[in-house]
Amino acid sequence: MTNILHVDLFINGQWQGAISGGKIEIVNPATEEVVATASQAGRADTEMAIAAARQGLAIWRQVAPWERSAVLRKAARLLAERATDIARRVVLDCGKPITQSLGEVRSAVEIIDWFADEARRISGEVLAGRSMHNRLHTLYEPVGVAAGFTAFNFPIVLPSRKIAAALAAGCSIICRPAEEGSACAAELVRCFSDAGLPAGVINLLTGRPEEISDTILASPVVRKISFTGSVAVGQQLIRRAADSVKKVTMELGGHAPVIVHADADPEKVAAGAVVAKFRNNGQVCVSPTRFFVHHAHGERFTKALVEATARLKIGNGMDPAVDIGPLINRRRLQAMEQMVEKTVEEGGTVVFGGKRPAGLNKGYFFEPTIITNVRDDMSVMQHEPFGPLALITGFATLEEVVERANAVDYGLASYVFTNSLQLAHQTVSALQAGIVTVNGWSGSLAEMPFGGVKYSGYGREGGSLGIFEYLDVKFFNLNFD
Ligand code: NAD
Repeated sequence: MTNILHVDLFINGQWQGAISGGKIEIVNPATEEVVATASQAGRADTEMAIAAARQGLAIWRQVAPWERSAVLRKAARLLAERATDIARRVVLDCGKPITQSLGEVRSAVEIIDWFADEARRISGEVLAGRSMHNRLHTLYEPVGVAAGFTAFNFPIVLPSRKIAAALAAGCSIICRPAEEGSACAAELVRCFSDAGLPAGVINLLTGRPEEISDTILASPVVRKISFTGSVAVGQQLIRRAADSVKKVTMELGGHAPVIVHADADPEKVAAGAVVAKFRNNGQVCVSPTRFFVHHAHGERFTKALVEATARLKIGNGMDPAVDIGPLINRRRLQAMEQMVEKTVEEGGTVVFGGKRPAGLNKGYFFEPTIITNVRDDMSVMQHEPFGPLALITGFATLEEVVERANAVDYGLASYVFTNSLQLAHQTVSALQAGIVTVNGWSGSLAEMPFGGVKYSGYGREGGSLGIFEYLDVKFFNLNFD
């Protein structure tokens, strides 16, 4: 029996239980055992966190950018030092295999480190005035109290993107992580607190979301919300944020196309695709999902992908040899089963996987699955599977494939494989997506803007644009005659 950890709320620099005493349970998806509990924040706890964040803001916005930068840098160092323990927590609570979990923590270190530098680079413009006694300036100022809501699939990276950008900008923040990621987020918040962040600048509210988000959204004190999750929840939050005209960033779902042109090497693409597709069991917003493979290569690509997928090891992610852990919960497992069943009914052919693996009696495991003969009008091609499904279809021309790739509501990541510079340029410009990777699989880097178009959301996290999501611009008109 694993030791059960309890996670408290973090409000005004103090770890404390919920006023109601309520708790939620966190279940290890590989064993179905309760491995942690987290306090269930209610309305009164949330109001306390908002008041604390308001006080924290008054302090933090007066801290010089170079000092803010030093605190962020120290938090990044602490996270790096604690990486192994925190990665084990990610495996226990979210099922992500240990090497991927460790990779996630290291990415979060890079993100925090990046924003430590960005804090020192906030700069405006100075324009010549309309007379010789006039100068026109733009100044950037922190937007105010921010709130970050995140999904379970990257329980360290997703809160880090929001926390680091907000703190670099001089904002205070309230974090509300996914239920499953509560203990991971608590360890992240502890790094910031141990790095010397003043009380109230960072606050953590765990538990089921409704009362927390209702209170935050209704509060005129909170000036910014940043959400990572599904389109459906994002739409609700956008509507409610309108009441107090909050600034909003939305990082929502994706259904990434992969375009394999006729001049690409299908075996080489398949060797990379197997890693990218089944990373975190496909529970990744930028997961490659709709594979459009030129008719010249369909069979070779599918054969190579099937062979590579057959070599993947499924099991408890604590085993370093495991490539594929469980899905996050029973609901997602059932969703995968239903999606495969419906796709087969609609005419798809399962060429690998498609069911729960034999021999694993506990845990929310599902086989990595490859389906061919898919058509664009099938439900699975229109709605994000957010799981280990690779859907393969063919195409003949560039015009045809970009039209089909764009024919979904989403526009987050996309992938293109070609040796032709001209074809690469033509495909990149025609794709409706926030991120296009040519001849590779990496669409998320601390130094580049991350985000989508269309229903995948708006605003950008990371890069030199990310900090502006937490800054307001002030036009400062100086007359001195
Ligand atoms: P979800 O929208 O169901 O939940 C996301 C988070 O929102 C969870 O913490 C959940 O508890 C919370 N939530 C639910 N209802 C809420 C409410 N009324 N108010 C506030 N918070 C609420 O999504 P999920 O299934 O957990 O996550 C998967 C989705 O997230 C996928 O669509 C995936 O593509 C997307 N995602 C997007 C990105 C990105 O950066 N674009 C990154 C990761 C995941």
